Amino acid sequence: NLQAAQAYVNDVYETVVERNANEYEFLQAVKEIFHSLVPVLARNPHYMENGILERIVEPERLISFRVPWVDDQGKVKVNRGFRVQYNSAIGPYKGGLRFHPSVNASIIKFLGFEQIFKNALTGQAIGGGKGGSDFDPKGKSDGEIMRFTQSFMTELSKYIGSDIDVPAGDIGVGAREIGYMFGQYRRMRGSFDSGVFTGKGVGYGGSLGRTEATGYGTVYFVEEMLRDKGLSFAGSTVVVSGSGNVSIYAIEKAQEFGAKVVACSDSGGYIYDENGICLNTLKRLKEVERSRICEYVKEHPQAKYVEGSHGIWTIPCDIALPCATQNEIDENSARILVANNVKAIGEGANMPSTLDAIDLFLENEVLFGPAKAANAGGVAVSALEMAQNSSRVPWSFEKVDKKLKKIMSDIYRNSVKAADEYGQSGNLVAGANIAGFTKVADAMIMQGII
Ligand code: GLU
Repeated sequence: NLQAAQAYVNDVYETVVERNANEYEFLQAVKEIFHSLVPVLARNPHYMENGILERIVEPERLISFRVPWVDDQGKVKVNRGFRVQYNSAIGPYKGGLRFHPSVNASIIKFLGFEQIFKNALTGQAIGGGKGGSDFDPKGKSDGEIMRFTQSFMTELSKYIGSDIDVPAGDIGVGAREIGYMFGQYRRMRGSFDSGVFTGKGVGYGGSLGRTEATGYGTVYFVEEMLRDKGLSFAGSTVVVSGSGNVSIYAIEKAQEFGAKVVACSDSGGYIYDENGICLNTLKRLKEVERSRICEYVKEHPQAKYVEGSHGIWTIPCDIALPCATQNEIDENSARILVANNVKAIGEGANMPSTLDAIDLFLENEVLFGPAKAANAGGVAVSALEMAQNSSRVPWSFEKVDKKLKKIMSDIYRNSVKAADEYGQSGNLVAGANIAGFTKVADAMIMQGII
């Protein structure tokens, strides 16, 4: 049976490679998940008979559109917008929008594919989707950001709705961008459909705790992993890459749990502060001034700034939280982390470790919390925001945070259990993939060949 399952996986993967040639990130995500599923398919041949992999790997819909806008000099610019509506078997499409020059179909599809399983793992009724644009927000004025996001929304508004597809933020899309997009949507529709977006401002339908959710959730997840081995954040040295929304709140919670966070980064380089990162400075630089982390050393002369963000993984640490972007930890960085005796990795970003890096961590028995489990807290609280919007009753921060903690702990337990059940004990990559997959696959099969 294992042989038949492996042959089926190889066969479908070959077709995926043919159809999506050169979509490197997408193929990487598919390869990892397919590989985890071999024992599941072997034990449950009805999945194969139902063509489940062929169906789940093909997006229900991929929308690509033109986004014209006018810059501050009066020049006409055109960017490309995307939305992949990947899978709606268990709920409306749900997932963020990313504005970054690297965005293309491959990036959006890898993110959307991951999102299906991540969202299933949260235990909430949300399907998988993702979108974005190759627009680069860096250096743009507030007026340019507004005109671009309004144009983006004018087109995207045709395809979304609170029971259809519910976008949120991701890299380059925060509260400001969501505000402009929600405003444009509301104006075009002439109705207040608050559940069409999550990550909204708290004053107009947003949830308390959504801003913190991804970073906090990652730390809650890693703390569960550590606790099982008699370890904890308390007293440990931590490196967090990135300095956006995920990083900032991962740092905040790790510090609250008694860790010393000594480094973080942005696309230009990283800062190392042996006294521990000063969160107030970081928050002001990133959230208020929207500037670069190299500015940090002006206020904290004991810290050093090093150009190039990759070097951050050479800093010895007990726990590494990659919270920047895909493939930021390659095999070489993983080797250095292992040599420096890292105990745990928690992926706050989406797919931050390459397949080779993951293999290395697992071989060396480093505790490894894969993205779709470890960073699911963001989208989980998005689903809580949708619940508050439907009921028109806002919840307290404490209520949201308590639910988030419980969700992260459930994701951890369910992933451990799924890994155990299929002979992959200790491998949370397999566990998370299997637990997410079986929920969606079962729903798809119950709903017929669609
Ligand atoms: N962009 C986040 C993620 O990767 C959150 C998505 C959401 O809240 O819908 O899961």
